[in-house]
Amino acid sequence: MPRVVMKFGGTSVGDLDRIRNVAARVKREVAAGNEVAVVVSAMSGETNKLVDYCTSIAPVHDAREYDAVVASGEQVTAGLTAMAIQAEGVPARSWLGWQIAIRTDEVHGKARILSIDSEDLLSRMATGEVAVVAGFQGVAGRNRIATLGRGGSDTSAVALAAALGADRCDIYTDVDGVYTCDPRIVRAARKLNKITYEEMLEMASLGARVLQTRSVEMAMKNRVRLQVLSSFSDAPGTLVVDEDEIVEQEIVSGIAYSRDEAKITLVQVPDQPGVAARIFGPLAEHNINVDMIVQNVSEDGRSTDMTFTVGVEDCQRTVDLLQGLQGDLGFARVVPDEHVVKVSVIGVGMRSHAGVANSMFRALAENGINIQVISTSEIKISVLIADKYLELALRALHTAYGLDNT
Ligand code: ADP
Ligand code: ASP
Ligand code: MG
Repeated sequence: MPRVVMKFGGTSVGDLDRIRNVAARVKREVAAGNEVAVVVSAMSGETNKLVDYCTSIAPVHDAREYDAVVASGEQVTAGLTAMAIQAEGVPARSWLGWQIAIRTDEVHGKARILSIDSEDLLSRMATGEVAVVAGFQGVAGRNRIATLGRGGSDTSAVALAAALGADRCDIYTDVDGVYTCDPRIVRAARKLNKITYEEMLEMASLGARVLQTRSVEMAMKNRVRLQVLSSFSDAPGTLVVDEDEIVEQEIVSGIAYSRDEAKITLVQVPDQPGVAARIFGPLAEHNINVDMIVQNVSEDGRSTDMTFTVGVEDCQRTVDLLQGLQGDLGFARVVPDEHVVKVSVIGVGMRSHAGVANSMFRALAENGINIQVISTSEIKISVLIADKYLELALRALHTAYGLDNT
């Protein structure tokens, strides 16, 4: 019998009527002759509320207790969804991460799935029972509850699809597919019928939150047939596929943005061998990820400015750490700036086409938008700009690359 995993995000289970709507969709898949596992997120807004509780009670808290709190949203929707499916006359039961078990590492708050014991699930699904699995959670060492990072239910779904050997993993959300750009900002964005794993991975890691990055990584590695579609309509969604399944490849497939960046400039850093290692070594030791880096040429041969970006949540920590090293590093000042966004254009077609970066720079220049930092890889170009220009930049680039839905 074909086996499918259906994942429903926060908006799709946002109230009881929506949970009933999910149950009706599940019933349709069962009636079509499939064995079905459902993965649910918490009701929309619920996880944010739980995170706020944790930070209010203790700004610095035990990550294991944070996980015990924030995993609870999915327990509620798993139980309610199982009840709603039963009310449709279809057998169903809920499963929490530890009941399955979905085993993770011990990086609480951002754990990785290590393994899934699928035997129980498989034997019960074979009897026609729908497995309703709480997304976002697993069980770490010493039987502690662990969560998979924000947006982690996508990864729960893909991991489950891989473990169950599912024929499809359908991600139901509040838009009907992956678009050329976030359709909430760029109205002219177009839905893509297909996107390659590689491009989807870049889109996700560069900020398009429609799929969690790790879910795409896992789908790519395990060849899970992944589809993004709407829980509110029957419109066809977007299939994530191998490159050779795409007949006409655009040069640029999509544009992503991230507001989670902060820019840090070290002014007048001595221009000597080894200075970059002495700056970035301590950041790495403190688990601060550095993304984009520029070092200006030194005019006098003695000092230069160094600019780089870190996650906005790490900005203050980075500044404090560098200020502590000022005597050793010998720079003049640290200047942080949180009013920046990263905008990226992505496309596998870039490998074989020149001039893609130039079109980006020209479109931004024509709109008076200053580029602060640039970074590139084989299939993407990212720029850092002032956050007030985000919408203007996205629309201008969308038009410049001919992506507008006309
Ligand atoms: P869910 O709760 O279902 O997991 P998310 O909010 O995590 O939903 O992801 C869906 C959202 O992703 C959409 O509402 C949309 O605003 C946003 N998004 C960002 N970039 C894109 C894109 N390129 N295509 C589609 N949606 C996107
Ligand atoms: N509920 C979790 C979150 O809001 C997980 C998810 O929705 O994927 O991040
Ligand atoms: Mg999500």
